[in-house]
Amino acid sequence: MKNIIFIAPPAAGKGTQSAILEKKYHLPHISTGNILREESQKDTELGRYIAEVLSNGDLVKDDITYTLLKSRLSEDDCKNGYILDGFPRNIEQAYKYDEILKELNQELGYVIKLDIPLETLEKRITGRRICPDCKTVYNLNSETEKPTQESICDKCGGRLYQRNDDNITSFKNRYELYIEKTKPLLDYYDKKGILYVIDGNDSVEEVSKKIDSVLKKGM
Ligand code: AMP
Repeated sequence: MKNIIFIAPPAAGKGTQSAILEKKYHLPHISTGNILREESQKDTELGRYIAEVLSNGDLVKDDITYTLLKSRLSEDDCKNGYILDGFPRNIEQAYKYDEILKELNQELGYVIKLDIPLETLEKRITGRRICPDCKTVYNLNSETEKPTQESICDKCGGRLYQRNDDNITSFKNRYELYIEKTKPLLDYYDKKGILYVIDGNDSVEEVSKKIDSVLKKGM
């Protein structure tokens, strides 16, 4: 299976769709946000630096992100393909990613962009709740995606939490960064003929079907 990169604004559903693909195709879901969040929990200078950047909604320094990402992509479970979510986020990271791929003897694969209107994203950001144990993502602002009890995971009973960058101020910063930085990135992948744009303003199931049809085309 080829690698898959998701490019989309915050709360567009990259994580949810990646989890579906992970199960269906047995590919690991590599999220630079998750890798950095994990690192930010550590009581080290690096951990504290990352925690501060994350809570402001800014980007972590490139050399730190590259080192963590390359180390994760070098693990055995990535050899037969993976789903990359949150990287690259700008054209410099795309060039660096080309180098990492060369070193790891991997190919780009598919680049899938999810398009979603700003109002939908704002609703998703403020309503997003995550289970720390099984990682299921819920949305309190959606009838079909909210948990039965407001703070309890339906699947495993875990206590749901809200990411501390899931607030409107941090979101606005993250969204503006996304709009400014992804345009050249999309042009870069479009020229290579590997960019697929999907309307993500739909139910989880419908978006998943659209992604599947893209993957089938390229198989
Ligand atoms: P995400 O989970 O993808 O929304 O990412 C959460 C946060 O992690 C971002 O707002 C950034 O602070 C940081 N982050 C994730 N991916 C990257 C990246 N490729 N480069 C720099 N910072 C990143």
